[in-house]
Amino acid sequence: MRFMANESYDLIIIGAGAAGLMAAAEGAKLKLKVLVLEGQKEPGTKLLMCGGGRCNATNVKVSEKDYHAGCAHTLRHVLKGFSTGDALGFFEQWGAPMALQEDGCYFSADNSARTVLKSLTGAAAGNGAQVRCGARVSSVAFQDGCFNVVAGGSVERARAVLVTTGGLSYPVTGSDGSGYQFAENFGHQVVATRPALTPLSTESEIFTSLSGIVVNAGLSLWVEHRKVHAVQGPLLFTHHGFSGPVALEISRAWIDARSRNGKVRADFFPDVKNDGVDFLFQGAGQKSLKNLLGTRLPERLVLILLGQAGVDGSKRPGMSEVGKNDRHSLERVLRAFTLPVKDAAGYPKAEITAGGVDLKELKGASLESRLQEGLYFAGEVVDVDGRIGGFNLHWAWASGVSAARAIAKRVRA
Ligand SMILES: Cc1cc2nc3c(=O)[nH]c(=O)nc-3n(C[C@H](O)[C@H](O)[C@H](O)COP(=O)(O)OP(=O)(O)OC[C@H]3O[C@@H](n4cnc5c(N)ncnc54)[C@H](O)[C@@H]3O)c2cc1C
Repeated sequence: MRFMANESYDLIIIGAGAAGLMAAAEGAKLKLKVLVLEGQKEPGTKLLMCGGGRCNATNVKVSEKDYHAGCAHTLRHVLKGFSTGDALGFFEQWGAPMALQEDGCYFSADNSARTVLKSLTGAAAGNGAQVRCGARVSSVAFQDGCFNVVAGGSVERARAVLVTTGGLSYPVTGSDGSGYQFAENFGHQVVATRPALTPLSTESEIFTSLSGIVVNAGLSLWVEHRKVHAVQGPLLFTHHGFSGPVALEISRAWIDARSRNGKVRADFFPDVKNDGVDFLFQGAGQKSLKNLLGTRLPERLVLILLGQAGVDGSKRPGMSEVGKNDRHSLERVLRAFTLPVKDAAGYPKAEITAGGVDLKELKGASLESRLQEGLYFAGEVVDVDGRIGGFNLHWAWASGVSAARAIAKRVRA
């Protein structure tokens, strides 16, 4: 069916976050008349928080293996249409060059998420898209061949609507889940949502006293004596529990395994291949256990770990003062310590929402609804969530571009 020709806009995009702004830039470049409606006073509030304000916008290698998604086929096709090189080229062109870190993450070269946001709003406006802020959309309906979109008392009409309202994470940034409601109103299934990439909390005062300490750690999730997930990287102790990339990364699996009594174990020497502690004692001479550990881990953590192991830190391994039982206790605490996790911080502190609009109900890489012609979804509102490393923003860029191209094709057909 062709769209009717007398609407005000070719495309209305709901939400001026990462996906919406990228889609606006691409859609307008393809000569669509685009209006973006944003509920907040400014566009891209969440983008400004990304990567601690430095914005980890993409990764040197992006593939479907970096994501959880309801349909691998669609995910693959969307990613194929917008590579890391495409993202770098776009941001370079619009004044936000990226710099590569050793770990493969690309951050804004001037360490400013604001520069990234400026480049997106510049691209959207430069290509001719209109962005209206303070315009929270309350309803979307399809009538007489076009969409009526209600925002703050005014009704806008368009041939196509792209929902880029984000998920439920960090609702203070404007993403409060209204996109799921729009989807459900058109008969869509929303795959159960839950917070992901969220800090883990503890009630153990021993660990909250370590607040501010960062160590390189391997975290593994164990369910019924099986290791089901493992990650390695910086672990940050906070006033509330455990954060930093590894804690955020394992939170999704922990939340899913919570009802099965999943346990998070920490290895404080993840670069040492075997499980033992003998490597610590080589060339120990007269040094005490406490001093030996102190050369490798922060002192406050050493004292707590020795306390947890119940081993006297003044013992000298080089003088055969550390027996078999002590070694076993040290192994348990240094290489497989069960972190006393109480809970996950939830949506207010989650970087991303897992679940969302069911990909199987969207038509391949176009991300068009199978239930309502002309209705599209992109970004976090869809059932795709990535790991830490710039993958979630890359999904926002790629899915925004993919949907915008499909809409341009449809409207111009
Ligand atoms: C603290 C933090 C740090 C992060 N750091 C990174 C990082 O470094 N790298 C990375 O890859 N990912 C990061 N993420 C994840 C990343 O921010 C998201 O994946 C991305 O922002 C999702 O983009 P989006 O456009 O789908 O949604 P959002 O960016 O959430 O944008 C949705 C927009 O829609 C608007 N909106 C919602 N409902 C309505 C409505 N009814 N009417 C009008 N407007 C509406 C909202 O106000 C919002 O502006 C981080 C997330 C957080 C919270």
